[in-house]
Amino acid sequence: PPRLPPAPIDHAARAAALARNDVAVAVKALRKNYDANIVLDGVDLAVRNGEVIALLGPSGSGKSTLLRCINNLELWNDGTIEVGGRRLGFNHLGKPLSPRMAAQARAEVGVGMVFQQFNLFGHLTAKENIAGPLRWVHGVAPAEAERRALQLLERVGLSHRADALPRHLSGGQQQRVAIARAIAPNPSVLLLDEPTSALDPELVNEVLEVIRRLAVEDGLTMIISTHQLRFASEVADRVVLLAGGAIIEEGPADQVLNHPKNPVAQRFLSAMD
Ligand code: ADP
Ligand code: MG
Repeated sequence: PPRLPPAPIDHAARAAALARNDVAVAVKALRKNYDANIVLDGVDLAVRNGEVIALLGPSGSGKSTLLRCINNLELWNDGTIEVGGRRLGFNHLGKPLSPRMAAQARAEVGVGMVFQQFNLFGHLTAKENIAGPLRWVHGVAPAEAERRALQLLERVGLSHRADALPRHLSGGQQQRVAIARAIAPNPSVLLLDEPTSALDPELVNEVLEVIRRLAVEDGLTMIISTHQLRFASEVADRVVLLAGGAIIEEGPADQVLNHPKNPVAQRFLSAMD
């Protein structure tokens, strides 16, 4: 199989590019509870176009819930979420969008998501996992969908496995197919929810390398929840630490990871390495 060469990141160039760019995702005063359990308690987060955010936080701190809200897989209780300047979830009167309208809004603004457990279609080949949704959801013609699927499989180093079913792929290969599927419709933002947590340790790097290339070569806007501190510090333009339903620390990786001010953040980070 082709090896992916590591891609160095020019953080200064990226910072200059980011400074010129608009807000891709704006989360304002987001509150979300499950019955009495207040999961997100006033989260504010603005992500610029091309920015890569690493979302850290203890298990149960609401990382998945935040990403699922941004992808409109959950409705929230208060606050607003805009992607590409378009309001998601609720209409201008504050009424929840119907499932059909929510799906349409999601497709229009282009939010892609990668899940911890890959969530590939088990009965479809790697190629069909990518080409199928392009045809069904995005109305791409069959020949073009197939062409794009093969091109994306090549990008994630899996041309040689195009006709394999997910169960015949390793976890790392499955996750690379899932990433290819998520970026196939050219989303304006890609959400990755602990993309390497379900993988055996020796398969983690191949997936991180694919994500790193999306950041460097494509300038893709990404929010990645992860426990990989080294990866976060290398790839993320900004690290955001969620705890107790709120962002307790955020900033450049070095500042957040090596000089956290919040005592909860200090405890969480020192327990992680
Ligand atoms: P994280 O991804 O940071 O581990 P989650 O967003 O999965 O955190 O969960 C945050 C909190 O919300 C947890 O207390 C969890 O039990 C609760 N929770 C998540 N999903 C649901 C759900 N569908 N129903 C009820 N509670 C949920
Ligand atoms: Mg989670």
